Amino acid sequence: MPKRKPTLRAPNLQGRLALITGANRGIGLAIARELARSGCNLVITGRDQRALAKARAELNKLQPSKLNLHVLAQPCDVRSPESVDDLFALVRGLRMPLDILINNAGIGHPHRTVSELPYPTWMQVIDTNLNGLFLITQAALAVMQRGSTIVNNLSIAAERVFPGSAAYNASKHGALGLTNTLREELRPKGIRVIALLPGATDTAIWNTLWPQAPRRKMMSAETVARTVLNALLLSENTTTEKIVLLPSSGTL
Ligand code: NDP
Repeated sequence: MPKRKPTLRAPNLQGRLALITGANRGIGLAIARELARSGCNLVITGRDQRALAKARAELNKLQPSKLNLHVLAQPCDVRSPESVDDLFALVRGLRMPLDILINNAGIGHPHRTVSELPYPTWMQVIDTNLNGLFLITQAALAVMQRGSTIVNNLSIAAERVFPGSAAYNASKHGALGLTNTLREELRPKGIRVIALLPGATDTAIWNTLWPQAPRRKMMSAETVARTVLNALLLSENTTTEKIVLLPSSGTL
């Protein structure tokens, strides 16, 4: 794998390789669009293969054509170690270091108090938002090197709690603990770790969380994606460790 020297200049994303989990819609797809326009090679994942193929076709058109870049779409369930192994077999096959990992795949659950929350729902949410984050990150570290960046899409629920969302709150609090640990472990290796904590963003996740939520008060996925791009463009000796992004109206 080719080694790169750290630079004090803003990194040029052209030709870099980025992996985004949960990139077939929502915030993940919006980040993928920004990275495609910036000339990144992309590996996008998700479970819904049809949505993944559609996203891949769209992203292919956004990439600067003269650069001869790749957009690979690999179905992956982040809860499954076998599925994550298959994904990283594909990444290793590219024979390029992974410069950017965006851990974005996540789910919510319908409003239920702790006493009403079915255990299978609790398990699914923890498995996706916390265990999946661990599995993907551990596999990715083997193909990342100095100068690369990990962005974990958490939520303001990583620091605050929303009654009726115990599994979501717990998964995101846990994911913040994992993110903060990872940052300290990777600091000497020159790998940046960024915790992204968006507030309400207008995506399909609200169909599960709160279908009647006032969408017009929410941020757009594009706003979140542009902020991620700006963080990735910071010079390699600079980082933002936590991005908290809220709708200007505050609460919904
Ligand atoms: P969406 O529901 O639009 O997107 C979720 C993405 O995650 C989809 O691409 C989905 O694809 C993927 N995903 C879900 N489960 C799995 C799985 N087991 N394996 C692989 N991929 C999976 O919601 P958002 O875009 O809003 O959510 C993206 C992230 O942003 C989540 O982590 C969420 O918690 C976080 N977030 C969202 C906020 C909001 O208000 N929208 C605010 C703060 C944080 P598929 O179903 O095909 O697998």
